[in-house]
Amino acid sequence: MKDKNTEAKVALAPNFIREIMKEDLRTNKWGGRVVTRFPPEPNGYPHIGHAKAICIDFGLAAEFGGVCHLRFDDTNPTKEEQEYIDAIKEDVRWLGFNWGEHEYYGSDYFDQMYEWALQLIKDGKAYVDDLKPDQIRAYRGTLTEPGKESPYRNRPVEENLDLFERMKAGEFEDGSRVLRAKIDMASPNLNMRDPVMYRILKAPHPRTGDTWNIYPMYDWAHGLEDSIEKVTHSICTLEFEDHRPLYDWFLDQLDVYHPQQIEFARLNLTYTVMSKRKLLKLVEEGHVGGWGDPRMPTISGMRRRGYPPEAIRNFCERIGVAKRDSMVDVSLLEYFVREELNKHALRYMGVLRPLRVVIDNYPEDTVEELEAINNPEDPAAGTRKVPFSKVIYIEREDFREDPPRKFYRLAPGREVRLRYAYFVTCVDVVKDEKTGEITELHCTYDPATRGGDSPDGRKVKSTLHWVSAAHAMNAEVRLYDRLFTTPDPNEVEQGQDFMANLNPNSLEVLNACKIEPSLVGAKPGTRFQFERQGYLCVDPDSTHDKPVFNRTVTLRDTWAKIEKAQGGS
Ligand code: ATP
Ligand code: MG
Repeated sequence: MKDKNTEAKVALAPNFIREIMKEDLRTNKWGGRVVTRFPPEPNGYPHIGHAKAICIDFGLAAEFGGVCHLRFDDTNPTKEEQEYIDAIKEDVRWLGFNWGEHEYYGSDYFDQMYEWALQLIKDGKAYVDDLKPDQIRAYRGTLTEPGKESPYRNRPVEENLDLFERMKAGEFEDGSRVLRAKIDMASPNLNMRDPVMYRILKAPHPRTGDTWNIYPMYDWAHGLEDSIEKVTHSICTLEFEDHRPLYDWFLDQLDVYHPQQIEFARLNLTYTVMSKRKLLKLVEEGHVGGWGDPRMPTISGMRRRGYPPEAIRNFCERIGVAKRDSMVDVSLLEYFVREELNKHALRYMGVLRPLRVVIDNYPEDTVEELEAINNPEDPAAGTRKVPFSKVIYIEREDFREDPPRKFYRLAPGREVRLRYAYFVTCVDVVKDEKTGEITELHCTYDPATRGGDSPDGRKVKSTLHWVSAAHAMNAEVRLYDRLFTTPDPNEVEQGQDFMANLNPNSLEVLNACKIEPSLVGAKPGTRFQFERQGYLCVDPDSTHDKPVFNRTVTLRDTWAKIEKAQGGS
């Protein structure tokens, strides 16, 4: 009974960073060390794109016997919160990685950065500029025109030192002055046109309090943080490629330890937005229930939805690491989720939209305990007993009064198998007189088919799942669809934004589901399969009286389709 689709193997995809590390170890470039870092800005919850970065940074370090630092890039106190720091730590751990003692904060290095800024000023390589932000922008030039030098560019060192110290002391208003590197206003690389190193921001910082009235810019801070931590491979996404000359320039001017910056293509997924700004908008405007909503592409959302961490790691390995941007089909991620769950999830029976069935010839007060297989993929998972009685529920969609061609499930006069139980034949349909809605079916059963096999070799064309009405427990099941209706939600008509592509029907709540009693008491986070209905996960909203389940994915496997779309593998 093995699903042939799940036998597709995870190919080791090309990863050019792995090759660089191998070569560096071979040439002993870093003295045998591999030190990477994952440097999130704590201004949102980590998403599947971050998972890719985490798998690269932590995964490769572990593979080569190195270490990976978890470094919070907390240089912008206005957007950063402890809640995000906690979420990042929880998610990295849940993905299966460990930073040990190496938990760092960019803000821990503010003093050292300040000393280095003074050094550049003294060397005539940095200056305080009084131009206002919009003037700086205007002076910067364009890709085709060189920039213009600021009238403050050639201030004497003493004046620069004095002004910079007073910026730090809080003497000037936000936005009134900045410290800039003195590089080249005519450089073809705009990042080299005297980039801003510090801005005035009179905002308290969660870790440094009121100590600072100036905060370092990313380009200045990041390389210094890497240098202080003796990072070997500073891995970041492609948009920083044009910043690498600046990364190198700062470290060269200071003549300090100099890591290698390496850029890779970020992950883009169909039907998904990944910008933290956009995810925050979804949360703040209430389109989802929070950062950890099971529809969100966040790691916490995927966890609540029921994605196993192994599935995310396998997916990240499979997509590889390249230099060219691409869009990955989200169904590839779902494939890995199914593959992992297929191996480990126990099978149960649950009816999502129940239809009552009375088995007319079954004795009134009898209850049979029938044996059911827990996981056909895993014989060690054993069997369990499922109660069967005269009144059961089946899935409403498993019955048609006028079955169309190729509908092989239950219909008037037709015989089907009840999983692990008996063959039953539909003999009558009861309807609500007013609405015409089917309220109940009557069937007869064949006692000779106990366990679901016919001794006379009689065949039926379908097998239905069911639960005993007297023993079933009520449950709520939340079904999810994609959050966006278009493959690239960022692509919009003029005058619209990505919200125009939001799927209004991404959540469907079924609150009259009937489940077999074996599932009673399952703890939040438990993952399992409802036969024929998909994989599910117990939600933290569950109560003793009413379990709540999230459907993680349906059983439908789209591997063949994905493979075709991705050009085979
Ligand atoms: P922002 O756009 O708000 O800066 P960010 O997604 O770059 O957000 P960071 O917290 O700076 O957020 O990201 C931490 C690390 O994760 C960085 O090294 C970044 O390059 C990497 N990263 C972010 N998004 C992706 C992605 N989609 N694919 C791969 N890596 C990513
Ligand atoms: Mg960033």
